[in-house]
Amino acid sequence: MRLEVDRERCVGAGMCVLTAPEVFGQDEEDGRVRLLDPEPDGIGEAVQLCPAAAITAKD
Ligand code: SF4
Repeated sequence: MRLEVDRERCVGAGMCVLTAPEVFGQDEEDGRVRLLDPEPDGIGEAVQLCPAAAITAKD
């Protein structure tokens, strides 16, 4: 799986961080998502849970 995040769309809700903390982090300054692992084995429901549709996953 290959991930991309759109930091411009991200609203800092943190659902992705709660769902897959080994893959997603939150920037300390602006609270927006930081991608820690762009090619993880799995991310649970992080794509569906993101309220801003800021996460894209490709197989
Ligand atoms: S769930 Fe979406 S909006 Fe929330 S921090 Fe993650 S990427 Fe940003």
